[in-house]
Amino acid sequence: MKLKQFVLNKASNVSKELSTIIDRTTLDCISIAQLKLRLPWNVLLGNILKNNVCVVGDALHPMTPDLGQGGCSALEDSVVIAKCLGEALIKPITEQEDDEFMKIRKGLEKYAKERRWRSFTFISAAYLSGFIQESDNKIISFLRQQFLAGVTISVTLRIANFDCGRLTVS
Ligand SMILES: Cc1cc2nc3c(=O)[nH]c(=O)nc-3n(C[C@H](O)[C@H](O)[C@H](O)COP(=O)(O)OP(=O)(O)OC[C@H]3O[C@@H](n4cnc5c(N)ncnc54)[C@H](O)[C@@H]3O)c2cc1C
Repeated sequence: MKLKQFVLNKASNVSKELSTIIDRTTLDCISIAQLKLRLPWNVLLGNILKNNVCVVGDALHPMTPDLGQGGCSALEDSVVIAKCLGEALIKPITEQEDDEFMKIRKGLEKYAKERRWRSFTFISAAYLSGFIQESDNKIISFLRQQFLAGVTISVTLRIANFDCGRLTVS
């Protein structure tokens, strides 16, 4: 109830339609989650999988909104994880990998390896872009006014241009 009231207070200047949507939202539809930071080197040096469970999307590479790439990168993760799991599960059974659990684990290990540097790039680029935008430092402010828009567009386009590879159907 407190959260709903907080949002309604903040939304005092929004349109009637929007405030009605918030007002009509039932309490069981409102969720609150802690904000988390994953440091870039955490995905490089840490482990993103445990047994046969791993993370994708925002859980893998939470970022500030500066790149506008969170949803797209979650889709990339989905394609890559589907590819890695598909390839692992389709392999003929060997003596060492005689159960599905091991195959899934192998697939997830490949996925984690493939997405490591990409996730590092997302988190670092978003962090750097946010840092530059918020900095009060005079030199950074000058460089921001002169170059940031052009650099951000070219970096964002370069990051977005990514080939996830082909999905094997059979
Ligand atoms: C204002 C805003 C603007 C954005 N604009 C862009 C943009 O222009 N371009 C872009 O690419 N990205 C954008 N993003 C980022 C994008 O929305 C996210 O990166 C993307 O939704 C992440 O997808 P996800 O599946 O990892 O996580 P989510 O979409 O957060 O999905 C996680 C799901 O898990 C559910 N969940 C959580 N805990 C549990 C639990 N314990 N049990 C069961 N379910 C659970 C949640 O309810 C949720 O449905 C924007 C985000 C915001 C907030």
